[in-house]
Formats: sequence, structure tokens, C-alpha cells
Amino acid sequence: PYGRVFNFSAGPAVLPLPVLEEAQADLLSWKGSGMSVMEMSHRGPEFMRIIEEAESDLRALLSIPDNYKVLFLQGGATQQFAALPLNLSKPGDTVDYIVTGSWSKKAAEEAGKYGNVNIVAKGDNRSVPARGTWNLTPGAAYVHYCDNETIQGVEFKGAPDVGGATLVADMSSNFCSKPVDVSKYGLIYAGAQKNIGPAGVVVVIVREDLVGDARPETPVTLNFKEMEGSMYNTPPCWSIYVCGLVFKHLLAAGGLPAVKANNDTKAKLVYDAIAASNGFYSSPVEPSVRSNMNIPFTIPSSPDLEKAFVSEASKQSMVQLKGHRSVGGMRASVYNSMPLEGAKALAAFMQDFASRH
Ligand code: PMP
Repeated sequence: PYGRVFNFSAGPAVLPLPVLEEAQADLLSWKGSGMSVMEMSHRGPEFMRIIEEAESDLRALLSIPDNYKVLFLQGGATQQFAALPLNLSKPGDTVDYIVTGSWSKKAAEEAGKYGNVNIVAKGDNRSVPARGTWNLTPGAAYVHYCDNETIQGVEFKGAPDVGGATLVADMSSNFCSKPVDVSKYGLIYAGAQKNIGPAGVVVVIVREDLVGDARPETPVTLNFKEMEGSMYNTPPCWSIYVCGLVFKHLLAAGGLPAVKANNDTKAKLVYDAIAASNGFYSSPVEPSVRSNMNIPFTIPSSPDLEKAFVSEASKQSMVQLKGHRSVGGMRASVYNSMPLEGAKALAAFMQDFASRH
């Protein structure tokens, strides 16, 4: 409907059609309030209801324990790269980073501006280094990792064992794509624009004992204590509203176990198409850590064929399949909101394209 395409963008990315339709229906007058969500006071009763429901629905989705705060902040996941050391470490502390791709590398580099960063393990961009090789710092302020590397397509299949240290996860590109045991984490953060909403909001879920000890020079908008309740200053109201609609949509779809089952099915269609191609397509990622969200693949025989693949796919309404500029090839992002038909259409196209070339 509406001439919509199958959008495999890595982010900002596809949103559920019913959510877009509801936002459209409410655009000029939200629930009879006579104004759109973009026009209302963030401290008025209408928006208070929107943000409170968004938080309680997210709590229900992820079974977030009561001793965790949920913050809706701005500045993207990138700003959290700096907020983490400022809130969770003191000058002179060591913070531990596991590097499995571009985003965890960037997070580690930013943290390096604020203290000592120890690289616990550095992956080869296609696997997670074996646990036995990790070099954890005793007494590290926290251990950071990226649960899903959006560019490389490397995903952890469970919380890493960091021996009781405070675990911090960037879940930007697989947030709400599967059930997660929040109690294993000190902090989880995620930019919205892949799985849960429009750009402009980053969700931070933080255990309350980690809040309140930021360095004095921490900018107020990065200080978790000051930002508690997400109302210190004007929050990204519209983005929070759409995220709230997505949370309701995911709950109605059966919650995260059902969402994960659906994601497993979609990702398998694409990985199976790679496997069935007799080497025409290749996935660079080690099978045990292949991402359910971002699927990079190449056509090893010819970069020209890769170009043809992307352009022919787009003529068949499958768009944004070009790989990230830093790695080339193709990348299919099959987030929560990619319909099953989209994954099926891509798998069928892959088979057809391979048989013709
Ligand atoms: N972490 C991951 C895993 C990401 O995929 C991205 C965005 N592509 C970022 C961090 C940075 O997010 P933002 O652009 O919201 O700052």
C-alpha cells in the first residue's frame, strides 16, 4: 500500500505500517486534544501521559526490574559514548572495552578522552574473540561491549560473562529484537532509529545505584541524575511518542519472544539464500555470531555484479541494500518492522539473480 518499498536500510529504518497510520491519524489532533504531539507542551497532561505510557510499555516489553531507571535522551548513541565514562568512572579509573566492530571501536575511542581504556579483546570484524583470550581489568569501572555491530553484522547471542563487573551494552541496532535479561546489566543504551522509532531519541536503561555519581564537569544533559524523568529540559517529544506506539505494537504482537521468533525466521531466509548459492554469495561473519538484524554479504566473483545486484533489487522495490561504505558489498537490515514478505522477496531475488549470473 501507498507505494511503499521493502526498505532494508540500516537506520533510520522501516517502521510498522500500523504505527505510521496511527501517527498520521493523530497528526492534526492527538486524541481530540486539538493539537499534534509536535505542538504540545512537554509538561502538559497530554504529553505526560504519552511519555509515562512509553516508559511503562517498554518496562513491560523488556521486564525491566524496578531498580532500573529509564531515560529518553537526545544526542544519539554517540553522545552516550561520552556520557558513560563521565557518569560511571572517575579520572584515573580504567574502563574495559570489548571491540568487535566499528561501533564498539568508536565507543572506546571516545571513552579514551576521559580516562584509561583497556581493550579487553579485539575481534577481526567477523567474530567474537574467544572468552579465554579476554584481558579484563580487575576493578574496572565497567565493561562495555556492542551487542550487535550494525556494520559488520556481528551479534552476541547472550550477555557476555565479565566476571561480575558492571556490564554496559550498546544495543542500538538490536534493541527490543529479542528478550534480554536486564538484571545482568548495569546499563543498556540504544538509539531509536533502527528498531523502535524515529531518529532523535536514545533510550538509556540504568541500574539506580549507578546514578548520582557523575563527574562534576559532566554537562547537565549528559548527567543521568539530572536527566532522571527525561524532563530536565525539552525531550524529543515526537520521537518518544512514535517509540511509544511501536512499544504498544510489539506488545500486541506477543512481546519479545514472538518478535524474536519472527526475526529468526526472516534472518534465516536470507542466510539460507546465501548458503544455498554454492558460493555465489558469501557471508563474512562466523556462523555462531551472525546478526539477526544486519546481514552483510558479498559476491566474491565480481564487484560489478554487486553493483548490478543493488540496482536490480531497487528496481524491484527492495532498496538500501548497498553495504556500508567502509566494508562494501551488500547489507540487508531486517529489523523488527521488516515484513516477512520483504525477507521472502529478497531471498527469492537472491536466488533468481544468482541463477542468471
Ligand atoms: N551504535 C550502534 C551499534 C549503531 O548502529 C549506531 C548508529 N548506526 C550508533 C551507535 C550511533 O548512533 P547515533 O547515530 O544515534 O549516534
